[in-house]
This record gives sequence, structure tokens and C-alpha cells, in this order.
Amino acid sequence: MQVTTLGTGSPLPDPGRAGPATLVRTTGTQLLFDCGRGVVLRLAAAATGPVLLTSVLLTHLHSDHVCDLNDVITTRWAMSPVPAPLEVIGPAGTAALVERTLAMLSDDIGYRRAHHGDLNWDPPVTGVDVADGAVLELGEVTVRVAATDHMPVAPTVGYRVEADGAAVVIGGDSVPCAGLDRLCEGADAYVQTVVRPSLVAQVPSARFQDVLGYHSSIADAASTAARGGVSTLVLTHLVPAPWPGTEPEWVTEAAAHFAGEVVVAYDLYALELGVA
Ligand SMILES: [Zn+2]
Ligand SMILES: [Zn+2]
Repeated sequence: MQVTTLGTGSPLPDPGRAGPATLVRTTGTQLLFDCGRGVVLRLAAAATGPVLLTSVLLTHLHSDHVCDLNDVITTRWAMSPVPAPLEVIGPAGTAALVERTLAMLSDDIGYRRAHHGDLNWDPPVTGVDVADGAVLELGEVTVRVAATDHMPVAPTVGYRVEADGAAVVIGGDSVPCAGLDRLCEGADAYVQTVVRPSLVAQVPSARFQDVLGYHSSIADAASTAARGGVSTLVLTHLVPAPWPGTEPEWVTEAAAHFAGEVVVAYDLYALELGVA
């Protein structure tokens, strides 16, 4: 199993970091978690693309996690030689979001169907709402769902992906909670959105300070990883993005609470787990 952090940025535009998105792939299965800014470009850089995805899974419906879902849907549809059904799985509201996205795309769908004689179907995309406790079999992969805590944004979910004798947790945006603890139990890797409070505190903006309340700090993520006995903690969706060269400071901050390996992710960082 390979885990690739396709996009490690946040809503703050960054020329070097695409929006939140993580790819988990095995020999026969490719799962995309979240569809942040630039996700289709990063899929191409990872030598794959929307046509090759098994499923798309969303942690929540914040714009930075879903803003390029429409690009994933359109690119898969327009590039598939035959209809390629796609499920977009996520917390309650996902099915409705998919319907609204297809409505937003209806002009383009009409143009392309009228122009290309061999493209005579609409994007076969289905939204699937899931909740705490769901267990999904996607290709050769088992995915467990738990509720997370990103209040006042709700509902939100995290995922544990099991394949090749390994497990990786995609935590999404959340403060520490029982759901994350359950997913992390004995996992090989834990990919978590983090904020660095000491830097956020220096920005004199009430709106920016608000981000502290509903994300894990580096220390929070490290404590969750330690409680779960996780092997590798992958810090992503970094707020604010580390100034180049300061990544070791993030690692040190995590290492105060967690004895395992700590990775400060960058776009297209890849981690190999288990036996393929
Ligand atoms: Zn969020
Ligand atoms: Zn976010």
C-alpha cells in the first residue's frame, strides 16, 4: 500500500502546496481522499488520474476539501471511453453536494454531449452518505469510518484504510476525539491536518485565530498518535505552511508527545506500507 499526500496546503493559497488531498493505492485499488485545489494536477504528477480512481472519499464538505471535485468528475467522464461509474463517499450531505455539483456542470455536460457523438451519457456519479461505524469494501481495500470533531462543521468523518497487512488513518480536519482514537488503534500511519499555534498566534486577525479552535495542533496530533500506538505520524494541511527549512521545528514539537516517526508532508510525499 502506498500513501501519497497529493496536496498538503490549506485554504491559504500557496504556490508550492495544493489543497488537501491524499491518495491511497494498492496494486488494484486507488482511493482519493478529499479533492482540494489542484488535485487533478497532482494526480497526474503521481502518474494517475480521475479515470483510474476506484472511489472518492470526503472527510467533510469545507470548500478547501471539495473545491476540485467538479474537475475530478468532469475529467473522468470526458476521458472514459465507456461509462465509468464513480461513488463519492462522505458524511451526510455528500449525496446532495454531488447532485448540486452535477447541476453546476449541466451546461458543460450539454456542450460536450452535443459535440462528441460517442459521449452520449451523463457523468455516472453517485454520492453516498456514510456515518460513524460504517465499514466499506472498496476494491481490495477495507475502509472503516468514524465520526470526527470539527465543530461547528458537522458531520465530519475520518477513515482507516486496511490493505496489504497495513493500516493508514486519514484523520481530516478534527480536534482529538474518540473517533480518531478508535481509527488510530495500532495503525501503521496517521495522516492528520495540523495547525501550529505559536505561528497562528502571531497573525493579528480574529478570523485566522478561529482556525485554532477546530483543528488539531501539532501536539494534539502527536498525542492522538501516541495513544493509538501509531508507527508514523504524517502532518499535512499545514497551517500556516512551514517556511522552508523550519520543518524540523514541527517535528520537534510533535516528538515531545510522540516517540514514533514524524513526517512533515509536502506535495507528492509517498509512504510505503505493508506488503504489496
Ligand atoms: Zn475543515
Ligand atoms: Zn481544511
